[in-house]
Amino acid sequence: MDLEHWLGRATHAIEQWADTFGPYEPHPSLHVDEDRFAAAFAEFTGRLRDNYPFFHPTYVGQMLKPPHPAAVVGYLTAMLINPNNHALDGGPATARMEREVVARLAAMFGYDTHLGHLTTSGTIANLEALFVARELHPGRGIAYSQDAHYTHGRMCRVLGVEGHPVPTDDRGRIDLGALEDLLRTGRVGTVVLTAGTTGLGAVDPIHDAVPLARRHGVRVHVDAAYGGFFTLLAGADGPAGLPVEPWRAISRCDSVVVDPHKHGLQPYGCGAVLFRDPGVGRFYLHDSPYTYFTSDELHLGEISLECSRAGASAAALWLTFQLLPPTPDGLGAVLAAGRRAALRWADLIDGSDALELYQRPELDIVSYFPTVEPASLSAVDAVSARVLTDGMTGPDPVFLSTLRADREAFTARHPKVAADADGARVLRSVLMKPEAEHHVEHLHARVEQLVRQR
Ligand SMILES: *Cc1c(COP(=O)(O)O)cnc(C)c1O
Repeated sequence: MDLEHWLGRATHAIEQWADTFGPYEPHPSLHVDEDRFAAAFAEFTGRLRDNYPFFHPTYVGQMLKPPHPAAVVGYLTAMLINPNNHALDGGPATARMEREVVARLAAMFGYDTHLGHLTTSGTIANLEALFVARELHPGRGIAYSQDAHYTHGRMCRVLGVEGHPVPTDDRGRIDLGALEDLLRTGRVGTVVLTAGTTGLGAVDPIHDAVPLARRHGVRVHVDAAYGGFFTLLAGADGPAGLPVEPWRAISRCDSVVVDPHKHGLQPYGCGAVLFRDPGVGRFYLHDSPYTYFTSDELHLGEISLECSRAGASAAALWLTFQLLPPTPDGLGAVLAAGRRAALRWADLIDGSDALELYQRPELDIVSYFPTVEPASLSAVDAVSARVLTDGMTGPDPVFLSTLRADREAFTARHPKVAADADGARVLRSVLMKPEAEHHVEHLHARVEQLVRQR
């Protein structure tokens, strides 16, 4: 896809549409002359050089990558009109696109009924799910694993609900025994399960947790902000295939969140929340004297906590899904490549005397640490931190990230490492770009070399 060509076509298409409304004079207060713009633009693009190369295969740090060109063209084209998906009168075309992409996401998770919408982020999407959880079980708390995203604890405070962190096992998944003990107290109304933790990509045993929650009359929300699209690999052939059970069980959960701006090839500003029971729309009811003129249908703003929201986000996702739909052969093929890369790198680390796996990757996040003699948490921490910095600053750069593991979590996985500190940073690489598949050998060799320096 030639981005330059299609951005030109985008401007043209919108101009053609605008021309159908008759001419008018732009106001002189908005006039900017080309020379002044050129100067500002030069400074602007110069400043943008202060960035990490998120697009490049040597960037294997955080959950960052540029959007697909189809998403860029979709976003910028719609942005020239700037519809607001708060209401159908703010952007009829993009509101319909939003309904269609949300229906595709619901189908991807196997929901037979749904109420849902896009949000600005996974944070807001989860907040909405927890808000509905509170309305349905007033006075009861919310449980989530210790490795769940920190937003859950924080949003419980925002909502005035008691949050209950539940211990994790030695693979970073919620401990069902501990969860059951907590549910027996009757203090919990909703449990949050994570399908792909942000740190390690661990998938909670959703299929076992759902019947447990049901026995105690507890609702289940799935935070699949990071991992949601991996459901496309459930039961797939080949090394990238994932076990079916936890992913299929999402269809039986009450709500689910997924971030198209993480694994859906979208620019930031695109999360999504889906409820299985459309009846929860009643909790959002409000009267607005300003909006909702043009239809009796429920407007998107009537089923979301956010008011104004970029119609361009829905446009970008809609156009992307026309080309790379949320199916095993569409977007699934993109995720499969990253997952194969993670498994390949894990095998290389297994055979290395410079590196050790922190734990085997469940999705596409590889966690590992330098082999140090004698092995202690403080030494692992120091060398991990040095490798991170040296990797970014030297020649032939490689961009990693670190993850802080506390003492208990670390020694549960690696009892032989002396626990001389209350935790250690380990190295972490998110292989979310399919190009990673052809670079793991190089990345591995480079990281080994960094460990051995000095
Ligand atoms: C990223 C993430 C969030 C927060 O989503 P944002 O889009 O960053 O606001 C919540 N939960 C999980 C599991 C995540 O990975």
